[in-house]
Amino acid sequence: MKRKINISFWVVTVLAVVLTMSFASVVFYDLFQNQVTADLKTYAHVLRVANETVDEALLSEQAEVDHLRVTIVDLDGTVQFDTNADIGGMTNHGQRPEISEAMLYGEGSAVRTSETMAKSTFYYAVRMGDGRVIRVAKEAQSFLAIVGNVAPFVLLVTAVLMVICGTLGSMLTRNIVTPIQEMAKHINDPEPVRVYQELEPFVETIREQHKDILKNARMRQEFTANVSHELKTPLTSISGYAEIIESGMAKEREVTRFAGEIHRNAKRLLTLINDTIRLSELDASEEAGASREDNFERVDLYQVAANCVQSLQINAEKREVSLLVEGDRCFVQGSPMMLEEVVYNLCDNAIRYNNPGGYVQVKVLINKDGVVLSVKDNGIGIPKEHQDRIFERFYRVDKSRSKVTGGTGLGLAIVKHIVTQHSGVLNVESEVGRGTEIRAVFPVDVG
Ligand code: ADP
Repeated sequence: MKRKINISFWVVTVLAVVLTMSFASVVFYDLFQNQVTADLKTYAHVLRVANETVDEALLSEQAEVDHLRVTIVDLDGTVQFDTNADIGGMTNHGQRPEISEAMLYGEGSAVRTSETMAKSTFYYAVRMGDGRVIRVAKEAQSFLAIVGNVAPFVLLVTAVLMVICGTLGSMLTRNIVTPIQEMAKHINDPEPVRVYQELEPFVETIREQHKDILKNARMRQEFTANVSHELKTPLTSISGYAEIIESGMAKEREVTRFAGEIHRNAKRLLTLINDTIRLSELDASEEAGASREDNFERVDLYQVAANCVQSLQINAEKREVSLLVEGDRCFVQGSPMMLEEVVYNLCDNAIRYNNPGGYVQVKVLINKDGVVLSVKDNGIGIPKEHQDRIFERFYRVDKSRSKVTGGTGLGLAIVKHIVTQHSGVLNVESEVGRGTEIRAVFPVDVG
């Protein structure tokens, strides 16, 4: 960054110096040119008046002192007198721009640059009373020569400015970078490091992200610990019963019971593993930012609920619970498989946490909030203080009842995940001893 800032500074410096110097040179040279021409004009006018009285020897002497060249040209362009040259070898001057101009309009001027481009000669000519033309000339440095003279100074200024910019650049980079480095060092401090105003939104975002990362890491750690713990219980049972059978200590009729226990625990293990894998998949798809809408389609939620209720009928009958579905075709954008998981988990809970003779009522309808999926039972209910937490992983109100009925504590966490991925919201209404209603509201797919 420091290098980039320095380079930018240097480029700006060189540009600024070169442009300023170029413009200044052009403007000053123009002024200089005007001044030389104005001086020559004055000389020429003075000489025009004095010419008749001043003798040529005196004129030559004075011209030399003033570094001037004076030429007098006759009406036909022949050079009559020149302070610097032998008139014998001089060509006809009638066509020189300043002279022909003076002959025509009374006065004329011109600037001619030498072949080496180092010098420029300024000419000013005026017509005298008798028609002859008197011309005054002065040699001065050309524009290029002036630029050449200025160049070392420009280089010096550029060098000084570059050093100043380099120092400024390092100071600026230090000022910008130090708060960022400080922030990186103290990212975990509760008291945020003070940074300049422009950096505050960036710092805030980084701190939030950092907090999220830590929170996620902690949650994952807890989840892993919970999973290991949950897997341990059925595995210990399986291993225990198998050991007794293996040692031959179990009586014949006990063997069947122990095998049953092994079977039940193995099934439980499988359910646990399946639910854990499912949650990891949901987490991964969310983290990968996989655009959910990509795999979503128009789904009739009522149809999904009706199919699911049908497949759960046997479970309900086993527990002497009646399971009903009512409603109408309601369309949402989603994955039919995931929505079926939602209905399945909600109905499965409503059956398991119910009493013999109870009912489970599944309703799908549209209201002002969207498409509502409601699963209502008149089972054991959930105490108020637990209602907020039942969607957490492995959270169970009554651990033993959950386990006995084949629960893993992950069902509602999966439900919550899927409903959120479908832009839906969940709410619970429940009273101990009277029953529970869990509602998921999804946006309507207007088709
Ligand atoms: P589990 O596999 O233990 O059923 P869930 O995540 O599905 O786990 O539910 C979490 C807890 O919420 C359950 O252990 C249970 O205590 C409570 N719960 C869920 N649904 C109901 C319901 N319909 N009636 C009473 N309690 C419920």
